[in-house]
Amino acid sequence: MDRSVEGGCLCGGLRYRLHEPPVRVGDCHCVDCRRASAAAFVTWGVVYRKDVEILSGDLRKVRYAARLRSFAACCATPLFFQDAQDSTTIDVTVVSLDHPERFAPEVAIWTEDRLPWVTIDPHRRTFLQARKLSRKLPGSRGE
Ligand SMILES: [Zn+2]
Ligand SMILES: [Zn+2]
Repeated sequence: MDRSVEGGCLCGGLRYRLHEPPVRVGDCHCVDCRRASAAAFVTWGVVYRKDVEILSGDLRKVRYAARLRSFAACCATPLFFQDAQDSTTIDVTVVSLDHPERFAPEVAIWTEDRLPWVTIDPHRRTFLQARKLSRKLPGSRGE
């Protein structure tokens, strides 16, 4: 069965395919994600880097605070986040997927940075800073 999902940027110039759907999904309220997206928070999904295929277009990579953020070179849509160029896993902006409705966030992280007018679903697990994982993904450094 083909489990792949696709997404892309605002203008359609950059398209990507994930050969496996995101394994974990969470909202990040940290200041850096907010600034990088100019949004109140960002919903990220974790995938293995090997499962990410760029189908068209180019990425503009921005290194900031020792992290690597990738935007569509054509229209600057925020797409990916990783700890390092060679990181095992990569975070993808779930809302750049063609069907983000399938991938609801389970957690909210960095809620100590949350804007006061953002309400978090009380059913969601929250973390003041990074998510503490009881079980890391194989090969992952965690978040
Ligand atoms: Zn574009
Ligand atoms: Zn963040």
